[in-house]
Amino acid sequence: MACATLTIDLDALIANWRALDAMTACETAAVVKADSYGLGAARVARALARAGCRRFFVALAEEGAALRAELGPGPEIMVFSGHMAGDTDMIGDCDLVPMLNSIDQMLRHVEALPGAPFGVQLDSGMNRLGMEAAEWTALRDIAMGQDIRLIMSHLACADGPEHDMNRVQLRNFRAMTDGLSAPRSLSATGGILLGPAYHFDLTRPGIGLYGGRPFDEAQPVVNLSLPVIQVRDVEPGETVGYGNTWTAEAPARIATVAAGYADGIHRAMGPRTALYHGAAPCPIRGRISMDLIGVDITALDEEPTALSLLTPQQGVDVLADNAGTIGYEILTSLGNRYTRHYRGG
Ligand SMILES: *Cc1c(COP(=O)(O)O)cnc(C)c1O
Repeated sequence: MACATLTIDLDALIANWRALDAMTACETAAVVKADSYGLGAARVARALARAGCRRFFVALAEEGAALRAELGPGPEIMVFSGHMAGDTDMIGDCDLVPMLNSIDQMLRHVEALPGAPFGVQLDSGMNRLGMEAAEWTALRDIAMGQDIRLIMSHLACADGPEHDMNRVQLRNFRAMTDGLSAPRSLSATGGILLGPAYHFDLTRPGIGLYGGRPFDEAQPVVNLSLPVIQVRDVEPGETVGYGNTWTAEAPARIATVAAGYADGIHRAMGPRTALYHGAAPCPIRGRISMDLIGVDITALDEEPTALSLLTPQQGVDVLADNAGTIGYEILTSLGNRYTRHYRGG
């Protein structure tokens, strides 16, 4: 088999959702945008729904429509990008709840789908998405008279508990929402860890479900196994891969695996990264190619048929550090060429 295998442990995913839920006294939703950070929104969301999750967030109405077909009626599906031009049919037909981000979106929504539910996203300082305080003041009384399901905002620096920005945004969010009767949400994974003042009525974890920082106690969810195509011996002085960046100093055995940067394995991680045979690390040798990687298996006493890139000892955040990026980018870059296997759930 020349196809790499991405194994997603749905039991670990559910355990992570339950562990994050147990840290708060409020409801815990799940963020499944970008195909559940690359892991497959259909299977991930269905497993979480069976475990008791009643609310899901996606980035786009298209993602929400696809998710509704998987989940059926019942669970609430909320759309971060709100109600964009062209979204009306999906929002109405698939029973999506747009998080309205501006006066324009609010007008579009109430005119196109009078009486339909919605949420509101407020900007509390990140300057990315959501109504500013002045816009919200102008709309608040109208919005509160309708079927408003949630008022939310998003923290810019929640992965740094000491960052002053957290307290600034908390203060701004409260100033815009204290005394209103709608449920409120401020926290994603990072905010959950900041403590009860940040929890309000609902939290919205994404990365923590999938085993990433800043939820350090997360169980690993993903394993990525790459098939070995060929094994060769190299003599001292011989080189491996493009640009001759690695030269053997002693006799070595090199396995070539069938995956590369076209599959989301960033070239930059090469020099610091190993593939694993069980618990044994096998360093990458030479540059990562588009579809191939050279791996040093000299230390093994058998010839492996596959080697693992993502393992319990080398998770998404280790790879992210090795590549100079974040776990979110590692997960969402994992290519569509992998066969996905799901365990448990
Ligand atoms: C992506 C996102 C989340 C989830 O964030 P994590 O850091 O992955 O937990 C929550 N809320 C909003 C608005 C988001 O864009």
